Amino acid sequence: MTYEEKIRALAEYLKKSERSFAFSGAGVSTESGIPDFRSRGSGLWERVDPMKAASLSALRREPVQFYKFFMGVWESFVGAKPNAAHYALACLEQEKLLAGVITQNIDGLHRAAGSQEVWEVHGHMRSCRCLACSKLYPFDALLDQYRSGTNPPRCSQCGGMLRPDVVLFEDAMGEDFYKAYQALSGCQLLIVVGSSLQVYPAASLPELAKTLVIVNREPTPWDVRAGLVINEKMAGQVFTDLMTVLGLDFLGVGHRA
Ligand code: NAD
Repeated sequence: MTYEEKIRALAEYLKKSERSFAFSGAGVSTESGIPDFRSRGSGLWERVDPMKAASLSALRREPVQFYKFFMGVWESFVGAKPNAAHYALACLEQEKLLAGVITQNIDGLHRAAGSQEVWEVHGHMRSCRCLACSKLYPFDALLDQYRSGTNPPRCSQCGGMLRPDVVLFEDAMGEDFYKAYQALSGCQLLIVVGSSLQVYPAASLPELAKTLVIVNREPTPWDVRAGLVINEKMAGQVFTDLMTVLGLDFLGVGHRA
């Protein structure tokens, strides 16, 4: 199948499927300037060991190092704007061609693009909480302390250490993961966008879809099960071409919402 035929096939899948979802990973945000974890040459995991840098035991054992790494990741989010793929997914939802987006990303760019139904299975950077007493704070509480030199940031109520509301290695999955699991039961079409599909249990979600489409520039372990694999172009271009075939004007959809 040529690339153009694949885009037309994806458009047909979307028009025919009654219940479609997208499942995104870090690759959907690389064109917004945020590095992913596993891209060859540029992925963050080429420089650090994830279990050492982003696990719950790392936070407990070496909080100062944990926060240095974590705030470095956070800095890459500053000023990042949604790209064509995020806007196209938001537009597909508005047009009722997509029921929602399940994302492994913590960058908030799907919401910023205007997507309404978003399940963030690895959490987000809008809040943080105390490891000792569980008191909830806006993320800025953690950020302000870190910036003013308090590392690790502390709970103002009990002095315990604050942690971001993201799912770390060794953490249990949050509520959004189970909601996504439920939403996907009976789902006809799942479009994976920019994920290596190597992080479990999130990477088990594709098994729930009747038809799987994978938009990823590198091969994934799920390619053999997919009805369509689109790896010829970057996600931003793939979705721009898809929207052209569907006749949808999508850029800036978030500002119209
Ligand atoms: P990953 O890094 O394991 O895989 C990303 C995949 O996207 C790679 O296979 C890469 O080839 C592909 N890719 C990169 N840019 C692309 C593009 N423009 N178009 C198409 N494909 C592209 O990411 P993952 O599977 O999401 O797993 C990593 C974990 O890291 C996730 O759980 C996520 O929580 C976290 N993470 C999040 C962010 C973020 O919030 N933006 C950034 C880094 C890591």
